[in-house]
Amino acid sequence: MLRTLPSREFFSGAAEVVKYGAIMSEPLFRLLEEKWEAFCSLESTVLAGVIAGCCRLKARVVAEDEREEGLRAILNFGHTIGHALEAATAYRYYLHGEAVLAGMVLAVHLALGQGLLGQKDGARLLSLFACIGLKAAPPGLAAQEVLAAMRQDKKRMGEKLVFVLPAAVGQVRICDHLKEEDILPVLERYLKDAAGSLLSCQ
Ligand SMILES: [Zn+2]
Repeated sequence: MLRTLPSREFFSGAAEVVKYGAIMSEPLFRLLEEKWEAFCSLESTVLAGVIAGCCRLKARVVAEDEREEGLRAILNFGHTIGHALEAATAYRYYLHGEAVLAGMVLAVHLALGQGLLGQKDGARLLSLFACIGLKAAPPGLAAQEVLAAMRQDKKRMGEKLVFVLPAAVGQVRICDHLKEEDILPVLERYLKDAAGSLLSCQ
């Protein structure tokens, strides 16, 4: 089935695959770094290993958190901002994984800014995200529109904005203390920067 997919769809799915490595498995992340070319050319053994790895990781999360009490939240890495980008563009501009990838890139910068993530791991995360390719923001999208979409989403999760931020490759923390002032500069940088300078730690 993967071989019949247009490549844009494949890379959209690949964002969620890389997410599993980033949130909970340094070995999966390393495998993707080392075998990226083979993965993208759909080489059977690499692809089968990666898919099985993702299934095992998801099964572990769901088994440990059957009642959705907490651990499952880590699966939302990249999704707080990703969902907001999708909603703010009326679901017409991004494929889901493209929006999630942008959300993961921005989450790396939020984590760097909070001192939660070191430069070395930040650079590793960003360079694999860069292999997928960061989609430029649509022209004219304002940070306030994205924040408004985030606030809408927030209603479903309680009062606070909840972010899943990377602490290392394969580790994340749930953060509910970020304020809109923390998020705004990173968001604006993405919205104004079509060239993707966000793909380095600077
Ligand atoms: Zn998703």
